[in-house]
Amino acid sequence: MNDTRKIMFLDLVTPHVQLEEELVEMFRTSLRTASFVGGPMVEGFEREFANFCEAKYCIGVSSGTDAVRFALMAAGVRVGDSVVTVPHTFIATTEAISQAGAVPEFVDIDEQTYTMDPEKLRYFLERDCTLDVATGRPVSRRTGRTVSAVVPVHIYGHTADMDAINEVAKKYKLAVIEDACQAHGAQYFSQREKTWKKAGSLGGAAAFSFYPGKNLGACGEAGAVTTNDEKMAQTIRMLRDHGQAKKYYHSIEGYNGRLDAIQAGILRTKLAHLADWNAKRREAASRYREIFGAGSEEITVPYEAPWAQAVYHLYVIRTKNRDQLRSYLAEMGIDTGIHYPIPLHLQEAYKDLGYGNGDFPVTESIAKEIISLPMFPTLDAEQQCRVASEVMNFVSMAVV
Ligand SMILES: *Cc1c(COP(=O)(O)O)cnc(C)c1O
Repeated sequence: MNDTRKIMFLDLVTPHVQLEEELVEMFRTSLRTASFVGGPMVEGFEREFANFCEAKYCIGVSSGTDAVRFALMAAGVRVGDSVVTVPHTFIATTEAISQAGAVPEFVDIDEQTYTMDPEKLRYFLERDCTLDVATGRPVSRRTGRTVSAVVPVHIYGHTADMDAINEVAKKYKLAVIEDACQAHGAQYFSQREKTWKKAGSLGGAAAFSFYPGKNLGACGEAGAVTTNDEKMAQTIRMLRDHGQAKKYYHSIEGYNGRLDAIQAGILRTKLAHLADWNAKRREAASRYREIFGAGSEEITVPYEAPWAQAVYHLYVIRTKNRDQLRSYLAEMGIDTGIHYPIPLHLQEAYKDLGYGNGDFPVTESIAKEIISLPMFPTLDAEQQCRVASEVMNFVSMAVV
């Protein structure tokens, strides 16, 4: 295989080389002013990211995992509660639930969007929970725990059906925390409000990750919470900073979960390009779609609901001979990924939750068939043609 023909899964070098001078200048400012944690760089980024998400407040934190955890805690999730999410997500979603002191419970995803199926959330609350008469809150029959929040995940950059989820959540008094860690800039058409809205403004609060490979990535670890709720914003600011609103006056015990000033500066520089990068990802997705067509018997292309504008953090297709396709593409010099091969309810870490094979059939069946193809803003048409034609080559060989 000729190495120059290698197609990367993700190109993290080009955007940083393009912005190198600006980034180095920002770093120099940090060194000369000794601003490393908090301060004007962090506040500036928070303002700009809140604007970008069309949310009132943004609180920079140290990771997406901390963002989910602090949002849950600030939303009133108590130790011993149950929090509902999907088994088709990165484990950070459920780690954050556990770290907030709660226990994750799952409902299955929708077969087309791969996000939480609002009907399954409804069934879970109607059939698998009883209502506590004193509090009016649902109690899970499986665990005997009070269900206090739901975490829909905007997986691959496609939002969950938030109107429907918010409606069910309201009826059952659940806090709604968006896991928007893969969905910076994704949009959702709210039928209820008759308007397009940004991920990060669709629930009680939203968690973002700026891990380097995300649509907006730091040069290290970083995250943020967005919310329109002032009280929640205040609590999260305390949680991230040892429970203090005023230096050395600790109203609660908090965490060391702040955002670095240097990372904030990097994010600020890169945020100015995010809308453009997302548009390029959408263009790349439509080029893949043109080549693959509407899909075929053998290949299912990503679905974009009429109420969603996805930002294609990942471009995921489904096919029966996934593992062989992946090895074939590797031989052809094309890098791919699987997000994610083992559903969370079947992970060893969660064997004590007591779930088993067959509990979430949609998640389980797609986990065997999904493969993530190269996707990043500077991916070009020629590279995409090669990826798609090798996929189709393989599929036609496999059929023979
Ligand atoms: C990346 C990611 C997270 C966690 O973010 P970190 O910054 O790595 O802690 C949480 N949820 C989802 C869906 C993610 O993709």
